[in-house]
Amino acid sequence: MSKEKRSIRPGRPKQSFLSKGAIMISRNAVPIKIENAKGEGIRVTWSDQHQAVYPYAYLRESCRCASCIHEWSGEKLIPPGSIPENIAPTQIEAVGHYAISIHWSDGHDTGIYAFDFLKEICPCETCTKERLNAGAK
Ligand SMILES: [Zn+2]
Ligand SMILES: [Zn+2]
Repeated sequence: MSKEKRSIRPGRPKQSFLSKGAIMISRNAVPIKIENAKGEGIRVTWSDQHQAVYPYAYLRESCRCASCIHEWSGEKLIPPGSIPENIAPTQIEAVGHYAISIHWSDGHDTGIYAFDFLKEICPCETCTKERLNAGAK
């Protein structure tokens, strides 16, 4: 196992490694690396070089398991403010070839994050903008 350490410096342009035109994550991209960037979030590197850090609380809030999202209405069932600020994953494991499951420090362990879903909620600037554009159309 190589111990590669890549730090993200604050203020560094987030997509400096992306060529122009590489906007959204490719539809068929798969994660080639999922790391726990301690203190920051979960860093996912996709096969198309797209890379983003998903903050823990953001991921925890985005959980779509039956106890977090109402199965029929899609309503969020997580009471606001109920997620501890210092939430962190205690375990991250692969689920088949399509998802990861995250065990959280608040004891929540039923969340499964499909790769497609992770693409949808990518918090990087590029994807966020793209989603806003798509929503505005
Ligand atoms: Zn959940
Ligand atoms: Zn992104």
